[in-house]
Amino acid sequence: MELEEYDLIVVSSSPLMVLEAVRQKQLGKSVCIFDDRERIGGAWYVKDLFGCKNVEVGCHFIYNNKEVYKFLQNFTGKELPLMNPQPKLIISGIDKNKELKSRWARFMYSLKKLLFSDRTLSCRQVQILNGLRETVQFKNPAKFFKGVKNYFKYEPYRYFDKGCGEFVMYVEDLIQKNDIKVVLNSRIRDVHVVPNEGGHVEVNDKKVKFKQLLMSKHIKFDSLTMNEKVDYERTPWRKKHFLFQIRGKLNRPFSYVDIANDPVLKRISDVGPYSDGLENGHCLICSDTTEEVDANNSNEEIKDLIFARLKELNFINQEAEMLNWFVEKFVSDYTPKDKIEELYKDSGGVITSIDTADLGKSLKMYEEPWGNLKP
Ligand SMILES: Cc1cc2nc3c(=O)[nH]c(=O)nc-3n(C[C@H](O)[C@H](O)[C@H](O)COP(=O)(O)OP(=O)(O)OC[C@H]3O[C@@H](n4cnc5c(N)ncnc54)[C@H](O)[C@@H]3O)c2cc1C
Repeated sequence: MELEEYDLIVVSSSPLMVLEAVRQKQLGKSVCIFDDRERIGGAWYVKDLFGCKNVEVGCHFIYNNKEVYKFLQNFTGKELPLMNPQPKLIISGIDKNKELKSRWARFMYSLKKLLFSDRTLSCRQVQILNGLRETVQFKNPAKFFKGVKNYFKYEPYRYFDKGCGEFVMYVEDLIQKNDIKVVLNSRIRDVHVVPNEGGHVEVNDKKVKFKQLLMSKHIKFDSLTMNEKVDYERTPWRKKHFLFQIRGKLNRPFSYVDIANDPVLKRISDVGPYSDGLENGHCLICSDTTEEVDANNSNEEIKDLIFARLKELNFINQEAEMLNWFVEKFVSDYTPKDKIEELYKDSGGVITSIDTADLGKSLKMYEEPWGNLKP
C-alpha cells in the first residue's frame, strides 16, 4: 500500500478549517486537507444545479459584527456589500392545530397570536424582543438593555455579492497560493492514533501517516483507536435544505428570513442573485424545515409542503410553478466540546481542533492567528 506522510491532516475543507490549515502550513508544516464532498467549502459549499452555476445549497448569513466584516474585508480586499433586503424574522403563528393543555398556555398563545401573528420583524427589533423575553422570564434581565443599546448601535448585515460561492472561491485561491494538497470525495473512516507520536488513516487505498490531525466538532469518524477503541456519545444532528427552481417572481423580496412558529418552515433564503445563469423570470429559493416535518415526511412530501407554504405565506405568487427541486443533506453529529478537549489531552496533542460553531463568531475568535492570511 502506498504511503504518504504529513505533519498535519485536516478533516474538512470548510473556510474556517482551511484558514487554520494555511496558518499551520505557513508555520512550516506539511499539510493535507481531506473532505468527502466533491467540492470544497463544508457547509458553505456550492453546487452547479438546474443549469445554474455556484448555487448555495444551504441558507446562510454572516453574524452582524463590525470586526467580523472588517476581517472579511481585509481578507477579500473589498468591502462586503450590505444585504438587500436585510435579513428578517417573520412570526408566522398559524399553527392552528397546536394542542395546548393549560388555560394559561392557551391564553398566552392567543395573546402571542394577536400581537405577533404574521408580523415581520427586523433583526434590530428581534434583539429587543429577545431581551424582553429573557427579562420577563428572569433569565437574563441585562439582555433587554443590551438589546436597546444594540438597536441604536445596529450593525447592518453584510454578505458576499456572489454569496458563499464567492467566499469559497477566495478560499480556493488561498489553498492554491499556499500549495496545500486537498483530497476531495474522500471520507476518513478509521483513525488510529499513537498518543504523543502521531497516527495514520487509510484512504483511497493509501496509508496516510500524520503527526497531528485537525478536526472540528462536526467531523465524524467511523472509529477512533488510541491504544484501544475510543467510544463516546455524540449528539445526532441531521439537516436537509431544500432548493427550488421556480418559474415566477418573489412576491415580497427577501434575502434571508427566519420564520418562527411555523408548522413547516424554519428559514428561507433567496439564492437566485448569487447564482450564475438564472433565467429571467425564474427564482431560486433555499429552505429549511422544522424538525417535525423532517421526521415525519418523505422528501417528495416535504417539497410539496414547502412549496405550498411559500405560496400561503405570500413569498411567491399563486401562479408560480416549481420547475425543479433538490435536497442537500448535512450530517454532522456533534462531538461535545469537553470530549474534544479530552481527546486532545489523551492523544498528547495529536488530535487538535478549532471551534467552528458559527462562521462569524469563529472569525472573531481566531482573528489574531488568521488576520494576516490573504488569498
Ligand atoms: C446547512 C448549514 C448552514 C449553516 N449556515 C450557517 C450560517 O449561515 N452562518 C454561520 O455562521 N454558520 C452556519 N453554519 C455553521 C457551520 O457549521 C460553520 O460555519 C462551519 O462551516 C463549520 O465548519 P466545520 O468544518 O466544522 O463543519 P462543516 O462546515 O460542516 O464541514 C465539514 C466538512 O467535512 C466533511 N466531513 C465530515 N466528516 C468527514 C470525514 N470523516 N472524512 C472526510 N470528510 C468529512 C463534511 O462532509 C463537510 O464537507 C451552517 C451549517 C450548516 C450545516
